[in-house]
Amino acid sequence: MREMPDILWLEEIRKEDISAVGGKGASLGEMSAIGLPVPRAFVVTSHAFRQFLIESGLEKTLFTQLERLDVENSSELEKAAEGAKNAVLKAKMPASIRQKIREAYRKMEDSQMVVAVRSSATAEDLPDASFAGQQETYLNIRGEKNLLLAVQRCWASLYGARAIYYRAKQGFDHRSVNIAVVVQQLVNSEKAGVMFTSHPVTGEDVSIIEGSWGLGEAVVSGSVSPDKYVFDMRTGKVIDRLIANKRVQIVSDGDNGTRTVEVPRHLQDAPVLSDDEVARLAKFGKIAENHYGVPQDVEWAIVGENIYILQSRPITTIRAGKTEDSLRAEGTGKIILQGQGASPGIASGKVVIIQDARDAGLVKDGDILVTRMTNPDMVPAMRRVAAIVTDEGGMTCHAAIVSRELGTPAVVGTKTATQVLKPGQIITVDGEKGLIYEGALEVPREKTPASVPSPAPIITATSVKVNVSMPEAAARAAATGADGVGLLRIEHLILGLNKTPGWFIAQGREEEFIQELYTGIKQVLDAFYGKPVWVRTLDAPTDEFRNMAGGQDEPIEHNPMLGWRGIRRDLQSPDQFRLQVEAFKRLWEQGYDNLGIMFPMVSHPSEFIKAREMMRGWGVDVEKVTLGVMIEIPSSAILIEDFIRAGIRFASFGTNDLIQYTLAIDRNNQNVAWMYQPTHPAVLALIDSAIQCCRRHCVEVSICGQAGSEPPMVKWLVEHGITSVSANIDAIAKIRETVARTEKQILLESARKQNARERSA
Ligand code: PEP
Ligand code: MG
Repeated sequence: MREMPDILWLEEIRKEDISAVGGKGASLGEMSAIGLPVPRAFVVTSHAFRQFLIESGLEKTLFTQLERLDVENSSELEKAAEGAKNAVLKAKMPASIRQKIREAYRKMEDSQMVVAVRSSATAEDLPDASFAGQQETYLNIRGEKNLLLAVQRCWASLYGARAIYYRAKQGFDHRSVNIAVVVQQLVNSEKAGVMFTSHPVTGEDVSIIEGSWGLGEAVVSGSVSPDKYVFDMRTGKVIDRLIANKRVQIVSDGDNGTRTVEVPRHLQDAPVLSDDEVARLAKFGKIAENHYGVPQDVEWAIVGENIYILQSRPITTIRAGKTEDSLRAEGTGKIILQGQGASPGIASGKVVIIQDARDAGLVKDGDILVTRMTNPDMVPAMRRVAAIVTDEGGMTCHAAIVSRELGTPAVVGTKTATQVLKPGQIITVDGEKGLIYEGALEVPREKTPASVPSPAPIITATSVKVNVSMPEAAARAAATGADGVGLLRIEHLILGLNKTPGWFIAQGREEEFIQELYTGIKQVLDAFYGKPVWVRTLDAPTDEFRNMAGGQDEPIEHNPMLGWRGIRRDLQSPDQFRLQVEAFKRLWEQGYDNLGIMFPMVSHPSEFIKAREMMRGWGVDVEKVTLGVMIEIPSSAILIEDFIRAGIRFASFGTNDLIQYTLAIDRNNQNVAWMYQPTHPAVLALIDSAIQCCRRHCVEVSICGQAGSEPPMVKWLVEHGITSVSANIDAIAKIRETVARTEKQILLESARKQNARERSA
């Protein structure tokens, strides 16, 4: 074994150097060795960090304090972390290390080169332990002095509160955890993004590339909706492209890190990548995939003609077909917990228990997120995980809706997951059956044989539409071939920003709010070009806003489910309503006449009339556009004829709420989940009479609650004359089949009756 130097250049790094350079450093070294165009970099090794601890005397003082710490006591934890970080920051870096860093920096092509300084933590006893996301990264660093400071700051970030907590919980000894620092040329990219070298959900042999203008941070952090290109590896062709409206970009800002600026108008709707660039990127992706032997999630950047590959790591989300998965998991492994299967698929991983979004940093790619109940501010963490398990909730809770849309397996309502499961424990989650198994179960990937022809599309007389909550799911939703969107829940678009609508208004940042809505809705409208898209106005209970900026101004409600949400809130908060209407207006003005607006939680026709008149007052041609309501409260089912007289163009059953309000059952309370029955005769009676009334008046009547994703209920609805149904993405195929079969049965029965009549006549 060679002696570990203080500095290693990428070209010198070998796989076995991981304990010296951390996971990030080793992976960059390996990528460079297989010929990927990685930006120039060197690593300040963990040896240098150890040397620093020894020479500064910190090794003797720092750890004793951390070892005595009760990490559950958050004020004590914060205090200890602050103390440790300050000690590392204030200590003097040994002159020899300073000198070596300076020399290495000077050897980079340009001695004023702008670099990114990234932490790469590692543990002596577990060299490949990943601490991703817990330590700091400093972008846009220029000059020796700033570089030395950034390196020391990375070292100090090893003692952030979250990092200390994580290590204590996962049983790592603070003494054995090291940190290396990667110093890499910052590619001041004109465009950048991410690439999956295989389809992240189905595993198909296509590269999916997302890109936008400026630095890649914008795509990675989700602050823009990027363009999307699908490249077929077999034919070597771009088979799909979705050009998004890219309003903002992140660019480097002199010596001050980065800033977000508006994309020049002429580039906002222009494609980011040419077909040639897509093909070149896909080729690099394949080099990485072939080398690592598994599909990769790659970060890339382009400057002029030059492509750079910044990072490559395994995709953790590829899963096999749901039914096959379930069959294979059955009977193997010990079942340790049970709940409701809320989002199909099977995944194994390490348990990470989080209390709230502040713990989200603990969650890394491929973990299993276990929590009491998810909240909108946890969505960024939910995007990273392999599966989600909650104590509370039912099929229509936040965790269930978001997981289905993300295509992430989820089990909700286990009651005790946060107590029974242990941090770091490996489990397998079956999101179809609602089962949690001990250990990682072997779930082989099924490949559809190339020779099996795809079946002809099923045509149904009853429209089969799809529900969408997050614009990023629009392409997946459109790929189902659905006849439109029967529900776009826009609150998810806003809640993801972590700021309440009231915050935007109070800060005078109304335009930002409008743009966010406009862009998100447009992405869905574009994906469903020419098909109806019913967008629902805001409907988030006040408790979902609580943890966000502006959440402190939300009223405390004893029962938010029955409180200030849906249209009742918008009517009393004209500013909030007006901003939504402004976004819709801009879309209608651009010719998106497939956009229809649906009002949630209406209880009386006067609410519909008032909302429409407010829209008229803000310049909407309300006679021309499509406006409808959700039937979620028994009163709206009972008064449906009055709503029709008031001018609704459609109605859609929100059974998630209609059931809870008809039967007095909290839809998120797992203790009464067994009583939550869409087929309760009272619920069916309300639905049936509303359908018949709509049919008499030729008003489209649909369903967008979870019951619309359940075949027996859909069969009943079609038999009772519903004109469209809207299901979740994962349920479209089975719902379309159910609708087609039921329609055929109806025709067959009526033909038989006609025959019998003719025979007896
Ligand atoms: C419903 O109530 O059925 C519905 C679709 O709305 P949400 O689940 O968003 O309350
Ligand atoms: Mg509802």
